[in-house]
Amino acid sequence: MKAVLLDQTGPIEDERLRVADVDIPEPGPGEVLLRVQACGVCRSNLHMIEGDWVANGVPGKLPIIPDHEVVGTVAKIGHAVDGLFLGDRVGVQPLWWTDGTCEFCLSAREHLCWNKQITGETVDGGYAEFMVASAAHVHPVPELLTAVEAAPLFCPGITAYSAVAQARIRPGDRVAVFGLGGVGHMAVQVARAFGAEVIAADRNPLHLDVARELGAVSTIDVRNVDAGEALAADKGGVDAALVFAPSDVLTQQALYGVRRGGTLVLGVSAQLPRLAFFEAKTIVESVIGNRADMRRVLKLAEMGLVRSVAEPYPLDRAVDALRALKRGELRSRAVLTP
Ligand SMILES: [Zn+2]
Ligand SMILES: [Zn+2]
Repeated sequence: MKAVLLDQTGPIEDERLRVADVDIPEPGPGEVLLRVQACGVCRSNLHMIEGDWVANGVPGKLPIIPDHEVVGTVAKIGHAVDGLFLGDRVGVQPLWWTDGTCEFCLSAREHLCWNKQITGETVDGGYAEFMVASAAHVHPVPELLTAVEAAPLFCPGITAYSAVAQARIRPGDRVAVFGLGGVGHMAVQVARAFGAEVIAADRNPLHLDVARELGAVSTIDVRNVDAGEALAADKGGVDAALVFAPSDVLTQQALYGVRRGGTLVLGVSAQLPRLAFFEAKTIVESVIGNRADMRRVLKLAEMGLVRSVAEPYPLDRAVDALRALKRGELRSRAVLTP
């Protein structure tokens, strides 16, 4: 099969990825082989490829086939698999496998599993014509979605859902979303589905356009405006802010723009300022989500409440898609179509 392999981490400009012919993998017990139809290109692919996460043990092996938001059809079924049939169309999210027995798996927080395997980071992912998935961790894809539309639900979709769910939003709340790339553009829609009025903040005019199309009531171009001041000037700030922009300055503005008693959800790492306890704000770190979250995202997509804005690329143009992502040239999500 054709696959895109990472041999060694380094700058994406240095041709770190190569397209190669490799053997089609065999599904083991509890696993299925998928014929990949679509595979979203995630910023975390870029982090892994460029070596940003080597200290965190990512990539977990080399060479590796990257990526973790994959839609494909079941092409072969391993032993001890129930409920899946040849030709079923399913999606794979970053959580490739969890042990099911640790304290986190037993408390509905399997995304924190001590022994988890991450698709495209510790096991081969979706930049290929075929990939192996753990049968217990795949999800049926709603029929009305194309594979290209559906693939981004499996990482930005679940990441956005889980972050919004932790923002304690009530209908009518005002919510600011900072950073409107792959995850942020989904978060705008999920927050609206929760009944919030959404304000979108970004430095990329393309992304602000997408946010307006998706129903943001107003936008803040952070190149010209201090978003914290702007939010605080209206009713003392928003009820919740979600940050997906990797920027300490924007994170600090987001915190300032949250009203007293409100919630800041971080989907990126950030340096926080000195915290003023007397405003009783809640700060939450959020990372992907569990399988129940994934099912809820797919339900929202099936109901037409969440859609991805995706641009298809052929598999052998993976590097072009990653470079466009790095340069901020994508409207939202590039999706490879092997
Ligand atoms: Zn991702
Ligand atoms: Zn576990």
